[in-house]
Amino acid sequence: MHFQWYPGHMTKAKRMMQENIKLIDLVIELVDARIPMSSRNPDIDELGKNKARMVLLNKADLAEDKWNDAWAEYFKGQGYSVVKVNSKKGGGLKSIQNVIQEACKEKMERDRKRGILNRPVRAMVVGIPNVGKSTFINSLAGKAAAKTGNKPGVTKGKQWIRLNKQVELLDTPGILWPKFEDQAVGLRLALIGSIKDEILQTEELAAEAITFMNTYYSGVLEEKYALESSADPYVVLERIAQSRHCLLKGSGLDTEKAAMLMLDDFRSGRLGRLTLEYPAEGEK
Ligand code: GDP
Repeated sequence: MHFQWYPGHMTKAKRMMQENIKLIDLVIELVDARIPMSSRNPDIDELGKNKARMVLLNKADLAEDKWNDAWAEYFKGQGYSVVKVNSKKGGGLKSIQNVIQEACKEKMERDRKRGILNRPVRAMVVGIPNVGKSTFINSLAGKAAAKTGNKPGVTKGKQWIRLNKQVELLDTPGILWPKFEDQAVGLRLALIGSIKDEILQTEELAAEAITFMNTYYSGVLEEKYALESSADPYVVLERIAQSRHCLLKGSGLDTEKAAMLMLDDFRSGRLGRLTLEYPAEGEK
């Protein structure tokens, strides 16, 4: 398995997180906009209690915008500040600083009452692997002034990125491990390519993706690959292989190659913007 959490790996990530979280005022939690529930780990609620909290719907460019809005409302309803972002292209990053300020208002007010002035708000980015943490930090850092460097009183080696006079961001993200004990969650994580494919065989996973497309985005595959529809996902896979000339040496269709091709299109937005789960389910 490409993606695996060895117990030692997990323990280390958790220890780092516990140590770093003491230094910060605000938790910036990245989730994948296509699966905002399945790409979270609820442990962050315990780790991040007493902190200001923000949820970023990252990869918003790959998810349907009406569902991005519905998810934003959902998380706002739970008391989080929310922003839709595309870290790769920089979309949504501009409004982030204001929202950070807003999310930390209480803390700044508390500081002011205690006579503490000009202590910057400190933030940390957290999320599961591949959700876009590094991309997000890099795009923000690219826009921000240079890194502030080590500071006395702060654990050595920690770098803070100064976003403005009031906000500093820890340059190393906190890694959360996904919770994929639940089969539906594991499947969704595999579909977006967040856990690498061995949860299911490539063709089985592609069949799941095809069934999902047939159910929620009917007609899209037919148009994209110029094929006749079928309710049987394995028949659709063969037709994709035919239409894309995925052929085995000698003779026969290379459905494994077709499966990879289809999953790649599915994950990278070439089948359109796709949302795999909806807020109402999250409330179950
Ligand atoms: P990390 O493991 O959480 O640090 O994730 P990375 O920053 O390495 O990103 C994982 C992949 O997602 C990379 O291929 C990024 O280019 C891609 N990515 C990150 N943010 C976005 C986004 O907002 N939109 C899209 N389309 N891709 C993104």
